[in-house]
Amino acid sequence: MTKRHALGHILAAIPPGVARRVRLAQRGRYLTVLCYHRILERPPDFPFDDELVSASPAQFEDELRFIERHWRVINFRMLREHLERDGRFPDRSLIITFDDGYIDNCEVAFPLLRKHGLPAVMFVAAGYMGERRLFWWDRLAYIAKTAKRRSASIDEPLRLKIDLDSFHEAQDAARRLIGTAKTLPESDKELFIKRLAAAFEVEIDEGAFAMTMRWDQLREMDAQGIEIGAHSISHPIFSNIDPGLLEREVSQSKALIERELGREVITFGAPGRGRIPAEAKERFEKTLRGLIESSGYSFSTMYQWGLVYERDFDPFAIRRIGIERYDSAPVFRAKLSFPELMPY
Ligand SMILES: [Zn+2]
Repeated sequence: MTKRHALGHILAAIPPGVARRVRLAQRGRYLTVLCYHRILERPPDFPFDDELVSASPAQFEDELRFIERHWRVINFRMLREHLERDGRFPDRSLIITFDDGYIDNCEVAFPLLRKHGLPAVMFVAAGYMGERRLFWWDRLAYIAKTAKRRSASIDEPLRLKIDLDSFHEAQDAARRLIGTAKTLPESDKELFIKRLAAAFEVEIDEGAFAMTMRWDQLREMDAQGIEIGAHSISHPIFSNIDPGLLEREVSQSKALIERELGREVITFGAPGRGRIPAEAKERFEKTLRGLIESSGYSFSTMYQWGLVYERDFDPFAIRRIGIERYDSAPVFRAKLSFPELMPY
């Protein structure tokens, strides 16, 4: 049993109602926001990024059962109405969010949410909806997992030699490649993927994969309590692009989704940023936040972990709690009640 798992067991034994009362007494009302990516059963030869799979369908439904017993599930639209009506957070509130817009959100997660009568928020990379394309991290995972050579090297955009047998499993190699991509400027990232694919003799036929949702699916979910939020147009590494492109990614994703759904988009979910120094991070977040506000959103999630307190509520820096497929039931329960003690 890992330390994290052991701690999860101890904390999960504390009833959520007790944990809530203590927190309310100490810090006042708060909102819990969860972050999921994909919900699916991974086949043994799953060729994409495992990290993005947040739960299996059965695991997700167990989590929903636990949530509905102890929380009142809302979305950001309902939060805004509530705040406008009585200026306070609704009591015991929790928001379930999904990032990216993978097709399993509609085909797997949505039927389960509907079965339990729960709303949710899906942040979608608008330019990918209805397209047959792979996100950049899935292309890198695909290269590592379907490589025809065990080792290869590239000379540009950087010199790199990768020996796949030196990794415990292909996903570890994928993680390493994804990590390297996060250090590159956006223009070099595409070249990096192209050169790696050639070096490992992998041909990626993007048209063969229906990875993301279609607009008709989004319209159907929108009509049934699923709030669609923006998550950029093309999901670049957000801190590695120039300010002009950043502005377009923020404002045009809102415009595109609004045009397709015929409804106002009020929430922006900030896509992942790169590996940059702390002061650059601060500068980047300040710029991003300004763009989100001036584009007319009411809320945005940022990169911080934890609960959202009414006392110092900042609608443009909403903290979340990331849920992972390797979270056992006790770890999941502990994360929801004590996220500051379970920081990943
Ligand atoms: Zn994302």
